[in-house]
Amino acid sequence: MNLILLGAPGAGKGTQAERLCDEFSLVQLSTGDMLREEVKSGSELGRTAKEIIERGDLVPDDLMIAMIAGRIDTGNGGDGVILDGFPRTTAQAEALDAMLVEKGLKIDHVVQITVDEDVVVERISGRFSCAKCGAGYHDSFKRPKREGVCDNCGATEFNRRADDNAETVRSRLEAYREQTAPILPYYEGKGSLQAVDGMGSIDDVFGRIKAAIKGV
Ligand code: AMP
Repeated sequence: MNLILLGAPGAGKGTQAERLCDEFSLVQLSTGDMLREEVKSGSELGRTAKEIIERGDLVPDDLMIAMIAGRIDTGNGGDGVILDGFPRTTAQAEALDAMLVEKGLKIDHVVQITVDEDVVVERISGRFSCAKCGAGYHDSFKRPKREGVCDNCGATEFNRRADDNAETVRSRLEAYREQTAPILPYYEGKGSLQAVDGMGSIDDVFGRIKAAIKGV
């Protein structure tokens, strides 16, 4: 099963992708995570992307398409992939379709997680992740079971994203409204879009996504 998760920044795509990966043995392909790795490694792409990410703008389509092309494959190891953060523009959606045809793959579900914009800033400003395994946490909604220790791998170092500040979040929301939201009709037209209410607890939202993809 291959899934696309769509939604504004802070909608919970990364959190729900982690849960879905465990439940359905999927591999998460997060373009945001890949870009943060590129920035950390100091690669040419990382150097180009750093400022763009910190401004809250989108990295150019040609760079994104080239980056993901090498990652979408039948050999990802799981029973399918979750695309988290890609596609984000109509050009990316069209390029993705061409890649899938070439590799003989198909997307089974496109899930749009919907949230009120006023909760997004609160959600984003409290989030952090394990520096070692990347597991996601939140100051209010999901603290590690043992304070300061990652539930998943036991590491004690955590990171907060440089672009998770109020000003950048506003630019990211604008990029979502102007460049990403227009791809919703593209998937609606194909009959594959399922909108899920992303308000409420992580468990509640996860239950709704599972119900949507199981068709119950
Ligand atoms: P995310 O972790 O998905 O919130 O992505 C963080 C940042 O990486 C975004 O605000 C963009 O600057 C950049 N980014 C991630 N995915 C894409 C994409 N598919 N297209 C363009 N820029 C992206």
